[in-house]
Amino acid sequence: MLKYKIILLGSGGVGKSALTQRFIHGSFSEGYDPTIEDCYQKNIEVNNETCQLEILDTAGTEQFSSMRDVYIKSGDAFVIVYSINSISTFNDIQPIIDQITTIKDSDPAPLIIVGNKCDLDDDREVTEDLGQLLAKNSHCSFIEASAKLDLNVNEIFYDLLRQLANKRKSV
Ligand code: GDP
Ligand code: MG
Repeated sequence: MLKYKIILLGSGGVGKSALTQRFIHGSFSEGYDPTIEDCYQKNIEVNNETCQLEILDTAGTEQFSSMRDVYIKSGDAFVIVYSINSISTFNDIQPIIDQITTIKDSDPAPLIIVGNKCDLDDDREVTEDLGQLLAKNSHCSFIEASAKLDLNVNEIFYDLLRQLANKRKSV
């Protein structure tokens, strides 16, 4: 069976746990323990093939980029999350992308940038164009999503699966 390890990265409070819970359990609640870091499994059928996804919801490692090194080495694909109502969380993304690019230098990994909390449009600090531009410059995918309203959550993971399948075909 195909097995992929997907890692969620991004600043605290952007909704990594909410997106994970939405994808795994189809639910949303207001408060997730920000220190909880956990690994989840979900099997998905793609093109008549069952794929086992292992999803790592990381927590509180922003300050320790050496810890991030360890995750990144073990990951096959990455979800990099910011929150559209916080420009500082958007600015935190570039160093994470750079770190992934450096570590996966010889074997580039599929990556998607996610602007979460798109339901908070009234408090928006990051335009969709800005997210789009960063993704273009980083040669990766981009999507705005809402874990709360269940907008584009499955699409995040299907996009990565598509990228992983293309990568497999090209070797
Ligand atoms: P993490 O630290 O990245 O894991 O962030 P959490 O998943 O714990 O979410 C932080 C806070 O943002 C929580 O209060 C969530 O309820 C809230 N949140 C997460 N996703 C969304 C969303 O799509 N929309 C809104 N409005 N709030 C969200
Ligand atoms: Mg969390």
